[in-house]
Amino acid sequence: THFGFRTVEEDAKQGMVHSVFEKVAARYDLMNDLMSGGLHRPWKDAMIAWLAPPKSARPYAHIDVAGGTGDVAFRLLDRAGPHAHVTLCDINPHMLGVGKARAEAGGYKERTEITCGNAESLPFPDKSFDSYTIAFGIRNVTHIERALAEAYRVLKPGGRFLCLEFSQMVLPGIDKIYDAYSFAVIPRMGGWVTGDPDPYQYLVESIRQFPDQERFAAMIREAGFARVQYRNLSGGVAAIHSGWRL
Ligand code: SAM
Repeated sequence: THFGFRTVEEDAKQGMVHSVFEKVAARYDLMNDLMSGGLHRPWKDAMIAWLAPPKSARPYAHIDVAGGTGDVAFRLLDRAGPHAHVTLCDINPHMLGVGKARAEAGGYKERTEITCGNAESLPFPDKSFDSYTIAFGIRNVTHIERALAEAYRVLKPGGRFLCLEFSQMVLPGIDKIYDAYSFAVIPRMGGWVTGDPDPYQYLVESIRQFPDQERFAAMIREAGFARVQYRNLSGGVAAIHSGWRL
């Protein structure tokens, strides 16, 4: 609203998002594999490959927002040089709890900082990071444009923004099959594995409501980013958007 208050509907959305990820945290990684048929892995790899973090020994600060259990953050550390450091930030402490255990088990602890925070009001100073990623997260925030403005603010000039998100299928014909799969199969599969189909119903609906590739690219430009581009993955089931703070 004009006064900065959240409406009842907005609070309901953030509350719903919170309880979704609280319920699924422990089985989140398994569900990711099941629902995407394992595709989220090559998609995340594609985002890190496009980012191409420096392999040199120079210090490099990265933030992964809505980073959940750390999948993207740890992939980046695997590819980057020895002085790369990641900040794993998420609004949900349950997801971060799983991330912390993974950081310890995988030997990433020294190079990872874990912070609970909202993508719409990041608890970091201006110009803190060389790069910013958000994977399957921006769709869940209440005000996408605020999350984009925050991404811009915390990036250093010359810093890079990358977003991996479900998008709009661009292959005619297959979109019908995809629709049927997502509405019929995903909530049921979620119900079997986690005991509750509702979070997965929410997931499918939120994908449908998210802006398509071009519209999202325009929003990124409006936030101030330059050289905005996107790449479709698996026929547009997902897309990676990229932009620079110049
Ligand atoms: N990026 C991880 C991955 O790809 O495996 C996790 C993605 S998961 C689908 C979405 C994450 O977004 C959840 O961990 C959730 O807690 C987080 N999230 C939702 N709303 C958020 C917000 N406003 N700020 C920060 N994180 C948020």
